[in-house]
Amino acid sequence: MTFRNVSSGLAVLFLMIGCGGGSDDDSSTDTGGTTPPITDPDDGQPPADCSGCVLTADVDDFAYSPYTDMLERAYLGESIYITGSENVSWEALQELGDMIDTMVQYRPDMVDRLRDFGTFYSVYGRNEDLCDIPYFEEWHHLDNYCAGGGVAGFRDNPTATCSERNILALPNDPYQRGQDTGENTCLHEMAHIVMNVYMEDYQRDEVRRRHEEVLGTDLWIKGNGQEAFARSNADEFWAELSQVYFNANYNIDHHTHNGVNGADEFKDYDPVSYQLIESVYIQPADLR
Ligand SMILES: [Zn+2]
Repeated sequence: MTFRNVSSGLAVLFLMIGCGGGSDDDSSTDTGGTTPPITDPDDGQPPADCSGCVLTADVDDFAYSPYTDMLERAYLGESIYITGSENVSWEALQELGDMIDTMVQYRPDMVDRLRDFGTFYSVYGRNEDLCDIPYFEEWHHLDNYCAGGGVAGFRDNPTATCSERNILALPNDPYQRGQDTGENTCLHEMAHIVMNVYMEDYQRDEVRRRHEEVLGTDLWIKGNGQEAFARSNADEFWAELSQVYFNANYNIDHHTHNGVNGADEFKDYDPVSYQLIESVYIQPADLR
């Protein structure tokens, strides 16, 4: 989800329900799996084999300046900082960092720009929820907000957050990452950051124009005739199609998705939108 273009509580609620794909049907309910305990070193120190893992209290000189204080733990690979509390495993921070590094690997200019804005990404732990993340406190009072799958900000709040459960595809990930009816919500929120923070106005206008064009076609409509979430607005159009490009959306027509997934399928199905997405990311990858 993303919260620009929001002028009423009703609009907020709609975005919250749809964003990341969770909703009122079976895909938003816990799958009943247990939560494996964190297997960090007992002392909570960064793992010896992780050169990018740091306790933020110990760092005098960050590789770039985050726009605001990060949480206790942080990881930096090749792009932006990933941060989480002591309740988030180092493994999850590294996994998300590596995923984002892969998304942006062909765009060093994007990395520079995101760093210039002080962008970082945060993670809420396997036993935490969205409201444990302090960067979006103005939304905490909203119905169902705390159970959401993630959120992304804008240039005045250039950060996104998602769940350790989704990053590690834990058994009780409500978004069932890695399954046919599951998705990578962390990638979805990072795509919002790409649009909200990295893009220039003219690039966002291109996304909006293409979204408007698509609304005049039968693209991104489900087999039952309902519109997929990608059609709901330009921001979600960008985030959902970024997921499809990186093979990180639903594999089958279900819930708010029409089942088109992966770069090859995307290119055949909607080559114009594909070119728009590829013009930003340059090369696809499999980040299901
Ligand atoms: Zn979204």
